[in-house]
Amino acid sequence: MRKPRVVILGAGYGGMMTTTRLQKTLGTNEVDITLVNKHDYHYQTTWLHENSAGTIHHDQTRIPIKDVVDFNKVNFVQDTVVSIDPDNKKVQLEDGELEYDYLVVGLGFETATFGIKGIEEHAFTIQNINSARLIRDHIEYNFARYNNEPEDRPELITIAVGGAGFTGIEFVGEMANRVPELCKEYDVDPDKVRIINVEAGPSALAGFDSELVDYAVKRLEAKGVEFMLSTMIKEVTPEGILVERDGEQELIKTNNFVWAAGVRGSTIVEKSGFEVNRGRVPVRPDLRAPNYDDVIIVGDCALIMNEETERPYPPTAQIAIQMSYVASDNIKALVRGSNELKHFKPEILGTVASIGEGDAIGVIFGKRKLFGWTASVMKKVIDNRYLLKLGGVGLLLKKGKFNIFK
Ligand code: FAD
Ligand code: NAD
Repeated sequence: MRKPRVVILGAGYGGMMTTTRLQKTLGTNEVDITLVNKHDYHYQTTWLHENSAGTIHHDQTRIPIKDVVDFNKVNFVQDTVVSIDPDNKKVQLEDGELEYDYLVVGLGFETATFGIKGIEEHAFTIQNINSARLIRDHIEYNFARYNNEPEDRPELITIAVGGAGFTGIEFVGEMANRVPELCKEYDVDPDKVRIINVEAGPSALAGFDSELVDYAVKRLEAKGVEFMLSTMIKEVTPEGILVERDGEQELIKTNNFVWAAGVRGSTIVEKSGFEVNRGRVPVRPDLRAPNYDDVIIVGDCALIMNEETERPYPPTAQIAIQMSYVASDNIKALVRGSNELKHFKPEILGTVASIGEGDAIGVIFGKRKLFGWTASVMKKVIDNRYLLKLGGVGLLLKKGKFNIFK
């Protein structure tokens, strides 16, 4: 009898953890597991703001898939998913096609542009290793250019960031650390550099604890970050960003604009005919897609509601990792012919955001607030814990963050 074929799309938090858990719990005699990913490495999306600013190298963030996945147990296909045909149980890749009996979709997020003109053409986004490397090198190149221009061009050393959600705040925090190094390297007067964070809402980090938000904003302002709140980015042009506040429009000249104002699930999922809500699939409690009993969706492609707030849970690595536990248990049950599937219930252990080296804010266990160094250590503990779960002590020692005294 043919073994059931399990195909996992995407080696992000959800896909990688599902794969490593399945390789431990299912024997090669009972299942064929295939993992598909664009690159031969997995990366820590949660560190990309640091790679984008250039405060850590991308090789610390990426992990070769072969270091964690046992290729004797899992077929790894390095390719790009083009579409899924859930009615015929097929996945179209750029260089081939795969058939499955059970599918796990973990293709992650894409930047949401909300149809704003010029974002696709003129904005940088923090999405993956390639886009992070590009931001780092582009900003550095502009610092190098600055003293070679015949006229003063402040837009070369003006860094504008769209959105003061967690990604925008974490990125400006890293940039505030990086700018003094760039100024030293390229003989640029630090007083001339601007880091501007433009946010449509009246506050940074909307909905987060206000005492922690105040702390973060004050700390960032002290390091030179300018906040423009209640200011909507209307358009991005080759010259800069057109913003509107109180009905007045202004062009902020910048050659370094990073759009960090929201995400949606991979468009592949929507184009493949799955039901979506705000770009994400409203999964059933067992994480299966509506209408498809053989497709499980994990991570940022899945939408789950918080019954207390009646709003969707924000897409996070924390939830993607927790989903992988239920996804792998449910795949195991399905492969073994059982229909007793587990239900997913997120357990939010906390939220911690960095605001630069050695500084952070966070809430853990529902109410305990953390500021500064303590929060920063907690963030590193969370990051290191993931590495331990994914690849054990060996991976932790290779890629972990141990610089807790900075
Ligand atoms: P992803 O991590 O997005 O991975 C998707 C994978 O699929 C990638 O390997 C990608 O290469 C691959 N892929 C995509 N498309 C294709 C294709 N067509 N073909 C083949 N492969 C493909 N969350 C937290 O909980 N805590 C944090 O501190 C935190 N910090 C963050 C910081 C930043 C800068 C950002 C951007 C996000 C942060 N998040 C954080 C959110 C978190 O990173 C995401 O929720 C999480 O990455 C989602 O995981 P995922 O498994 O769905 O997919
Ligand atoms: P977000 O949706 O959380 O924040 C986007 C921000 O951009 C909002 O404040 C919004 O008002 C603003 N915005 C939208 N359109 C705008 C416009 N036209 N002009 C100006 N501002 C505009 O998105 P994010 O920060 O990219 O985060 C994505 C997900 O990743 C979230 O679920 C977040 O919780 C998660 N994340 C978590 C962490 C962490 O836990 N440390 C870090 C980064 C991201």
